[in-house]
Parts: sequence; C-alpha cells; structure tokens
Amino acid sequence: MSRIAYVNGQYVSHRDATVHVEDRGYQFADGVYEVFAVMGGKLIGEQGHLERLAHSLSELRIEWPMSRPALMVAVKEIVRRNHVRDGLVYLQVTRGVSPRDHPFPQHSDSALVITARKSGPLDKDTLRNGVDIITIPDIRWQRCDIKSVALLANVLGKQEAREANAFEAWQVDEDGYITEGTSTNAWIVTASGELVTRNVSTSILNGVTRLAVLEAAVEVGVDIIERPFTTLEALAAREAFITSSTSHVKAVTRINGQSIGNGYVGDLTNRGLDAYVEYVETNGGPQTTDKWN
Ligand code: PLP
Repeated sequence: MSRIAYVNGQYVSHRDATVHVEDRGYQFADGVYEVFAVMGGKLIGEQGHLERLAHSLSELRIEWPMSRPALMVAVKEIVRRNHVRDGLVYLQVTRGVSPRDHPFPQHSDSALVITARKSGPLDKDTLRNGVDIITIPDIRWQRCDIKSVALLANVLGKQEAREANAFEAWQVDEDGYITEGTSTNAWIVTASGELVTRNVSTSILNGVTRLAVLEAAVEVGVDIIERPFTTLEALAAREAFITSSTSHVKAVTRINGQSIGNGYVGDLTNRGLDAYVEYVETNGGPQTTDKWN
C-alpha cells in the first residue's frame, strides 16, 4: 500500500510529496516540527504536542497554518489514510515560500507538511534490553526549548553515537552538566537512589514523554527530582534511561563504554516504563502541558 502525505492542503502520494525550493524551511531551517506517537490506533499526547507547537510557533513568530482543530483533523486523516495502528506522525510548519532573504517576508503563508510511518507495537522487552550512549559537548544554540527543524548539531551528535556503536549521545553543557540526548530526554537514578531528570529551561526540549513520565511517577508514588546532573553522576548512576515519543522509556545500560549499575535494566526504569504505558493508555498523554521553557 502506498503512503500518503499531507502537503499544503492536499493529500498526495508520499512519492510525489514535494515543497518549493524557496521554502524557508529548506533554505533557512525557518520552521518547527512535532512528532506524535501512535499507540494501538491512538495519538499520544495530542494536547501536549499542540501546546508545544504553539510555543515554538509563537517564539519564532510563525503563523499557524490553520486552526488547531483543523490541524488535528489533518493529522488524524493522515493516520487513517496510512492505516497506522502503531507508529509516528511527523508534522512540520515553516514560514513558507518567499524569494531568499533573511528577514521575515512581508507576505508568505506558513507551509504545512504531515507524514506518518508505521512501526511495530511498543515492545517492552526491546525497551528493557538497554542501549549504549556516549557523551558529547552540547554545541547547540540557546533556545533548545523551541522544536526547530534546525537540527544540524543533533544530526552530528547522533552520527557520532552511531560511529561509536551507541544508540544516543547525551550532550554536555559548558559546566559539565548533561542537557539531553540528541532526540531524547535524559534520566538517571543516582548512586544514592534519586530519580533525576534535568529541569525545564531553554537548555532542553521539554518532552511530551518526559511530562507523561513525571505524571505517571506521581501516580505510582515515585519521587522525581528535576535538576541538572553531571557526566560524573551519570557514570556513577545505578540506572539510566531515555524518553521520547519514538523511544518511549528506553533503558541505558552503558555510558561511554562503562556499565551502569549491574549492566542490566534497573528497577525504577522498569517501573517507569510500566507506569508510563499504563498512564498514556489511561490518560492519552500528559495532562499538564504548559511548561515549555
Ligand atoms: N529532546 C530532544 C532534543 C528531542 O528532539 C526530543 C524529541 O524529538 C525529545 C527531547 C523528546 O521529546 P518527546 O518526548 O516530545 O518526543
């Protein structure tokens, strides 16, 4: 079955889905995006993604391409037309098409592209297997709270991870604190047993999955401390994991080649994964969606 994409008002075959060469997303990375997980036919974190998109658009002064309800109709239609039961929806909004010039164009309509991709159903065993990560300097700009399509530093970081046979790279700020992964948020259980993830600021993207895990933890009575943590703390951690709409809650068992804890998925990571899945199945996603920087 051929895939269908939504491009500026039309549903087209994925093969024929194209944008203009002077789209500002293409020339200046002047655009933002969202990635929604689809689990068991349901969109996860709909409200959170919309609120974060609103934040990204307003910080960059890009107009909404259409109303929020109309946007969600298009997102759901793409899920339906592509028969996605489990997978991802990618949505991108750019400042639109205009002759190349740095300042905002006086007249341009925001451009909207939506695509969807199938994956297998969430597989807890695979998520518990654990992955390797490396640490790298964080060379990104100072507005990581905006989900911008300008992802070159993230691309370079992920490639560095792949070349080191690792799944993800945790980026480290100038003070030695981990900000986040290149496409995931970072979590550890410290040597003294605290479950820690970095607090929200302009240094990280506040993940919709991160928010759901925070809320799920409250429900199961697990305390989480939101604060920066260093690479040294991470290396000495009992457990570590990453979260994102694509990776859900995925165990980290080695950092820079060093085993974390006993080298196997830890108890709080296990419980975090279970609590997250149950929480999103019950609630559809995080309920608190207004903390974007
Ligand atoms: N941090 C970065 C840099 C990301 O790119 C992503 C997701 O793409 C995340 C965190 C996790 O966000 P979410 O849980 O909303 O997928």
